[in-house]
Amino acid sequence: MAKIAINIATGSLQQAEMIVGIDLGTTNSLVAIIHPETKQPIVLKEHNSSSLVPSVIHFDESGNVTVGDEAKAYLETEPQQTIFSSKRLMGKSYNDIKNNADFFTYKVIDDDTESLVKVQVGQQFYSPIDLSSHILTELKNRAEHILKTPVTKAVITVPAYFNDAQRQATRDAGKLAGLDVLRIINEPTAASLAYGFGVDTNDEKTIAVYDLGGGTFDVSILKIVNGIFEVLSTNGNTYLGGDDFDKAIMQFWMDELNITNEQLRNDKSLSQGLRLRAEDAKKYLSNHESFETTFLHYNLSVSRTQFETLIQPLIDATLHNCNNALNDAGVTKNEIDVIVMVGGSTRVPAVKNAVSNFFEKPVNDTVNPDEVVALGAAIQADILAGNNKDFLLLDITPLSLGLETMGGLMDVLIPRNSKIPTKAGRQYTTQKDGQGSMRISVFQGERDLVKDNRKLAEFNLTNIPGMPAGLPKVEVNFLINADGILMVTAKELRSGVQQTIEVKPQYGLSDSDVEKMLMDSITHAKEDIAVRALVEASTEGEQLLAATENFLSKHASSIQQDELMDTAQAMQALQLALTMADKNLIQSKIEALNEISRPYAERLMDEAVGAAMKGKTIE
Ligand code: ADP
Ligand code: MG
Repeated sequence: MAKIAINIATGSLQQAEMIVGIDLGTTNSLVAIIHPETKQPIVLKEHNSSSLVPSVIHFDESGNVTVGDEAKAYLETEPQQTIFSSKRLMGKSYNDIKNNADFFTYKVIDDDTESLVKVQVGQQFYSPIDLSSHILTELKNRAEHILKTPVTKAVITVPAYFNDAQRQATRDAGKLAGLDVLRIINEPTAASLAYGFGVDTNDEKTIAVYDLGGGTFDVSILKIVNGIFEVLSTNGNTYLGGDDFDKAIMQFWMDELNITNEQLRNDKSLSQGLRLRAEDAKKYLSNHESFETTFLHYNLSVSRTQFETLIQPLIDATLHNCNNALNDAGVTKNEIDVIVMVGGSTRVPAVKNAVSNFFEKPVNDTVNPDEVVALGAAIQADILAGNNKDFLLLDITPLSLGLETMGGLMDVLIPRNSKIPTKAGRQYTTQKDGQGSMRISVFQGERDLVKDNRKLAEFNLTNIPGMPAGLPKVEVNFLINADGILMVTAKELRSGVQQTIEVKPQYGLSDSDVEKMLMDSITHAKEDIAVRALVEASTEGEQLLAATENFLSKHASSIQQDELMDTAQAMQALQLALTMADKNLIQSKIEALNEISRPYAERLMDEAVGAAMKGKTIE
């Protein structure tokens, strides 16, 4: 297994190249590098401006995109066209987020299915991957502008609790932005690296990372042994953060000045003005005892003591999460060696004190808390670049390994640059009723369509007992041993039928082949992702048509005549859109058909159909 550094811009192989570290945050995102001369991590920023880019995207009527501070100005004035918190949607289905649907002021498509969420702005549909890629593109452009050199490689951080799908979505967003994502690392791990923990390989420590950002709170308990980080537990609240501190101050002012919710709803500039001043007040109170300003004809004031009383319940809630994290990790407070503070909201003195009191230890807060994750990502990037000789580079997989799924798509199980030995597994299901076998095709490479990747092996899992489509559960496991041999096992869990093969992914593959495959994936990223989006939309459309037909054949008699006619029309329109191969059109017709069928489908919810519509199908 080889580690290869190539310059994507020039195509040349090279030893050391600048790789950036990116903190792709829910509220703010930023880029850091290791300074080539001082060898110290630094965040990138233009003169006199902040390193933080608000993770906000605005689309105007003609589809022009702005990201960051400029987009933030539209949050209240054009809420349907201004996307914030897209990170919350990464790798999620509508079912995953429906309990918090009110949180989003823009349109999140409600198909009520297991398929991945989409956001609709005007006539355009965006996946969370598209949205995050806009933020990453902005960060890449900024970095290139500041460094005056192409930036093509990155390490991106994600929360420790992100699952496989969320990590893959983050990788895809990077790819779409023209970045070769060398590794996805956990935010708490990055923060610990920024404080130098885990750099010395003899270091053995148990670390609590307390991360209070704009809209989310995470606490992670990590253990480092021999320079390797292990996440013992994570806990937190994905809807608790500094925004709630702002809201508390805003509510306090509204109560004092008799401003009603009704007034706020009708007067966007009033609500925007109050919210911004509440945030100003909060930040000011991190260094001062009281805040005072005038806005319109209002006198707005709040003292630090008042603020602390307002947020005490929120702080208590985070400590409760800390307790849970300790319990889940099976460690006591005394066993925690270090506490690392992360996230802009940990600048609030009351937060720091509460955390320090809880763990009965001083906290680490000397590194800027909203930059610490990006700085750690830069350190990790430098290690991957081979610049930091203190780190031993473990063997890694040079190319991603995955399976062919519906429509000839590549479904990556083991991403490239994974340390070996490693393993990964995923469940699939059948598409046809009574399907007795399933073809398992194993591919290697970075492209979205398997036809552009390298086929390693193929076999049929046979003797699957006859079951309705969607019912069989076929688990495919990839295991790469320390010698780089890949073992692929497919097992139907209900019946236990199973089959295994072994392949040597590196056999017959030269360094220049690997290099070419990587280059191709970056140069074709845009079209690849567009094809993938089209194939996914088409698959969803076809499955919906089949499911609707099936549903109608069973229940036509209980559905009203006009409903049947509307359904037939919507099905025809979807069929037509499918033949036209237009992703946005297909998605809008899927929407339309769902709108029509939802009322009666809810009346007659049929479990078998529900089950058939769920889950991925291989062929
Ligand atoms: P995320 O990781 O969610 O993207 P950040 O770590 O950038 O978020 O934290 C953003 C939050 O930090 C915002 O709510 C912001 O108001 C808050 N914040 C930033 N500076 C301060 C400060 N000086 N005092 C209190 N809160 C602050
Ligand atoms: Mg963060």
